[in-house]
Amino acid sequence: MADVQQLLLRQHLAHCQLHSPYYSSVLAGIASEQVTLESLADIPFTNKADFSERNAEFLAVPTEDVVDIVLSSGTTGAPSTVMYTERDLQRLAYNEALSFAACGVTNKDTALLTCTLDRCFVAGLAYQIGLRQLGAAVIRNGASTLLSHCDLIHRLKPTVVVGVPTFLRKLGLFLKENYLDPADSSVRRLICIGEPLRETDLSPLKLGSELEALWQAEAFSTYASSETVSTFCECTARCGGHLLPELAIVEIVDAAGNRLPAGTHGEVILTPLQCEGMPLVRFKTGDVSFLIEEPCACGRITPRLGPILGRHSQMIKTKGTTVYPLSILSALNSIAGISDYYVVATSKDRLSDHLTVHAAVCDGHGCSSEFIAEQLQARLRVKTRIIIEPETAIAQQIFGSGSRKAVRFIDRRNNS
Ligand SMILES: [Zn+2]
Repeated sequence: MADVQQLLLRQHLAHCQLHSPYYSSVLAGIASEQVTLESLADIPFTNKADFSERNAEFLAVPTEDVVDIVLSSGTTGAPSTVMYTERDLQRLAYNEALSFAACGVTNKDTALLTCTLDRCFVAGLAYQIGLRQLGAAVIRNGASTLLSHCDLIHRLKPTVVVGVPTFLRKLGLFLKENYLDPADSSVRRLICIGEPLRETDLSPLKLGSELEALWQAEAFSTYASSETVSTFCECTARCGGHLLPELAIVEIVDAAGNRLPAGTHGEVILTPLQCEGMPLVRFKTGDVSFLIEEPCACGRITPRLGPILGRHSQMIKTKGTTVYPLSILSALNSIAGISDYYVVATSKDRLSDHLTVHAAVCDGHGCSSEFIAEQLQARLRVKTRIIIEPETAIAQQIFGSGSRKAVRFIDRRNNS
């Protein structure tokens, strides 16, 4: 596996040096045929700002070879353009087909897509071409109404639904009220995008277990980014997203850019292999996670990526301790007396952030603000202010922005 990766890495670097104006300057003087998986660590990172500021210089093929153009949903600044060749789309289809196959989807399945296939996004297209390559039937209903999705579930009996977890919960509840109990429906697998389903120890988050109970279906988590055209998907063992080693090299680094060992939390760095249109080297995704290197229960020996714990820029520093949003949300999720919550981060100075937890509590658990603060202190070693509020006030804040996703972490550090 390492030999194949190293060979593909050398070919990738040579392609970048020869055809990408950006990399012919950045990688000047590097002997690509001598780079190893270890010495890759000496090559400079490419960050989102490089990609957006010098966007056109990343194109490594003549414009007549470009067949699809998307905008990357960059979290800072204006969106960047990502251009794919026919071979890039075939590579993506292969990536998605293997990912769906890993979680048990076959050509006998029918999949309902509830994510958009247009509006310059790549995710919907990726699922569609991957499922097509696998031979599964695809219902491309995209970002349609709950009613139309329900009607299709009722009439066409899909076995797989692909979408954002919070939306899939809403869809399940709507289905239950208006058509049939989702548990009695044809749906057996939920492929989830955009929101984590698991705790840092890989046990299900509240949202993940709610989804599975509602639909009586297995929920699988996926992670992808449009710039790197690489997808990680959970297998049937559901303990981290498998990397396809022939398609990407993943590294985890600390704030200073040093490689971290498996299990340690840090920023995800991706080098997609066999990419033609806009190849990237050591791309800083800005997402924080960790690698799992032990062989998986499914039999695969490829490394797995843990749940995304937050954005690197969301790292919270409080009195010398660092913590990421998902760790706080996971900790709150594990306290039985809390029915719902959101967390606000503020900063009074550059050195320390402040966390305020707004929580709704269930009757009969004796869950006081002191108790919650103690639990968080024990688990995360951070001090937080706790405010108990009615469940309706919490729900209003979480879904108030009209977003499909529940917003449980509010970062006010730049505006306060
Ligand atoms: Zn596995």
